[in-house]
Amino acid sequence: MFDAMHVGPKRTVPLAVPNVGAREADAVAEAVRAGWVSSVGPQVDAFEAGLAAATGSQSAAAVAAGTMGLHLALVAVGVKHGDLVVCPSYTFAATANAICHAGAEPLFLDIDPISWTLDPKELAALLSESCEHGSSGLIYKPTGQRIAAVVPVYTNGMPADMDAINALLSPLGVPLIADAAAALGATYKGRALAGLADLTVFSFNGNKTITTGSGGAVVGRDEVLVKRVRHLATTARVGSGYDHDEVGYNYRMSSVEAVIGSVQLSRLGEFLAAKAAIKAAYDRAFQGSPGVGAFPDPVWGTSANWFSGIRVTAESGWTVPQLVEALNARGVMVRTFWKPMHLQPHFASKPRRSMRVTEAMWAEVLPLPCSTSIAAEELDYVIDAVRSLFKRQMAA
Ligand SMILES: *Cc1c(COP(=O)(O)O)cnc(C)c1O
Repeated sequence: MFDAMHVGPKRTVPLAVPNVGAREADAVAEAVRAGWVSSVGPQVDAFEAGLAAATGSQSAAAVAAGTMGLHLALVAVGVKHGDLVVCPSYTFAATANAICHAGAEPLFLDIDPISWTLDPKELAALLSESCEHGSSGLIYKPTGQRIAAVVPVYTNGMPADMDAINALLSPLGVPLIADAAAALGATYKGRALAGLADLTVFSFNGNKTITTGSGGAVVGRDEVLVKRVRHLATTARVGSGYDHDEVGYNYRMSSVEAVIGSVQLSRLGEFLAAKAAIKAAYDRAFQGSPGVGAFPDPVWGTSANWFSGIRVTAESGWTVPQLVEALNARGVMVRTFWKPMHLQPHFASKPRRSMRVTEAMWAEVLPLPCSTSIAAEELDYVIDAVRSLFKRQMAA
């Protein structure tokens, strides 16, 4: 059963690999044979309709990467050169990169320790202590820049506390964009994702729960803005000729990616169940291990459980880099996770508030293998490998 996993003398378990197979291959072959490879055609429309239905959105705009979706969402809500956009420091680089692509600068806030998502209390403190109303909108007093949007990140597929964040921003009229890159399938207080923010952005990069190779999409509670994202993604073209009504982008998803996406979307339920089972297995296996904590549990809905793993504190006798090395030597192909943005040299001077939680936890996060195709024996192998390391440490 394990033969396929043997590489040389020992088995390896990858961190997260795409779960694609015969159905996706058939769909691609069919589209290519029929000549549907560009961004124009029924395949992209069908994928968008599926995404809209899955997220409670009136429509969806499919793009060639999640980063592009974030960029266009920011442009669509009016983010301009010189603006500030609030996001958590604890995120993948794409969130802050897209803010810069839109000509703005990130302003970093801390996360809460329970969900690892943008802390509404920190946002409230920023608004009351450092912001004032100006003629162009909400102004960040220390620099006089406009705060043009707020972008919470749905860390590991867990929505942020969106009721609290909306309650702060709605009275101020500040646009809210959710970086839900890995959260497709999550819910918040029983509600679907599209209703939680003006625009919500997904990624279908190779390590996300559903993948199109590279890809992304934007949905939202504001259909006018979703339409605007689709317009911007297709060179802001009007009609079928060469008329354009503003500076546009060539960011549209292709038909080849879209047919893979539609097959993947039909398997979303299966993938989410696999991800939840993986998290439950790790939580069970390491409960009570000294110095080992669990990844966040859903607190206000259901998480898509994109990555599962453990949080490792000094009491365990290990650091995450030491565990990564020891596990890699046993064929468990883990690596460290997100390094906060305010610790990246090019973002070190960007405005921010306290990073108390982010700095306490980021180096303790160790994602463990969580492919939706992981076999029960592989999961056991990973758990045994981690356990044996902790045991050895305890004996020493
Ligand atoms: C994956 C990811 C993205 C970027 O998506 P791409 O499709 O790779 O451009 C953005 N934000 C977060 C939090 C992500 O995990």
